[in-house]
Amino acid sequence: MFIEALNAYIDPIKPVDKAIITHAHADHAKPNHNKVLATKDTINIMKIRYGENCAKKFQAIEYGEKININGLGITLYPAGHILGSAQVLLENKKNKVLITGDYKTKSDDTAQSFELVKTETLITEATFGLPIFKHPEPAEEIEKLLSSIKLFTNKCHIVGAYALGKAQRVISLLRKKGYDDIIYLHGAIEKITNYYLQRGIKLGKLKKVTKDDVHNLKGKIVIAPPSALKDKWVRKFPDVRYCLASGWMIIKQRVKQSKIELPLVISDHADWNELTNTILNSKAKKIWLTHGRTDALEYWCKKNNLNAMALYLKRDD
Ligand SMILES: [Zn+2]
Ligand SMILES: [Zn+2]
Repeated sequence: MFIEALNAYIDPIKPVDKAIITHAHADHAKPNHNKVLATKDTINIMKIRYGENCAKKFQAIEYGEKININGLGITLYPAGHILGSAQVLLENKKNKVLITGDYKTKSDDTAQSFELVKTETLITEATFGLPIFKHPEPAEEIEKLLSSIKLFTNKCHIVGAYALGKAQRVISLLRKKGYDDIIYLHGAIEKITNYYLQRGIKLGKLKKVTKDDVHNLKGKIVIAPPSALKDKWVRKFPDVRYCLASGWMIIKQRVKQSKIELPLVISDHADWNELTNTILNSKAKKIWLTHGRTDALEYWCKKNNLNAMALYLKRDD
């Protein structure tokens, strides 16, 4: 997304001169930009993932702090998606445009809470933009994992969860339910989790899983990136129950086609109800849809007398 007045891009997929980054997920935050404007957390996580010098210059701004460039006000608001994630509000005397980035409105102890922003034009994500996508309460999904541990006492429960955001949220949800046993981590999750700990997010007793551990993990929980459930790493464990925490687990067909035995529908994106409520509550008159399933949402907007249009992403290939 290019902003002409700023000569800047939001979440550009290639290195650019000026980038505003909504959050540190790999499809939004790329290395090697010249200047990066983002929240402190996003910048810190980018540095952990890509190295200290992954951009020439960084400018961190606080949530709610407005800066002015070329007559345009820029303010970041919490998006509730992961730690440091932001919505971007651009405004001048005539207009207000809010770009949500990835967001969710459901509570999450590992991210700053989503803030509703009134705007004239809303550019919203649409990852789960179909009425069939109604996510259950995460606490209920975590209950399924805890029941499974009680039932399959001989199995090591390996839970696939994205290394940034989802992994820490799953751990936090387990702790909230009173689970106080050690939670084991795949090496790829350790660094980012340490950052969350450093930021004061309570995750209880954690341990990086080692070769010596694999035979002593009956009835224990290991958190690993989803890709690790498919590679040879997982074969070291003798008796595994495969679990995956993802919004996509709501699609039964996806579960069937995978080796996942325990799907946990835990999403860091807004579901249909959150999307439509946010559109209504933002009071926006113009809705631009991007990043996902736009058709049904476009239809819904038009039925509600809102001016809506789908944006198309330029692909890297
Ligand atoms: Zn994201
Ligand atoms: Zn995304």
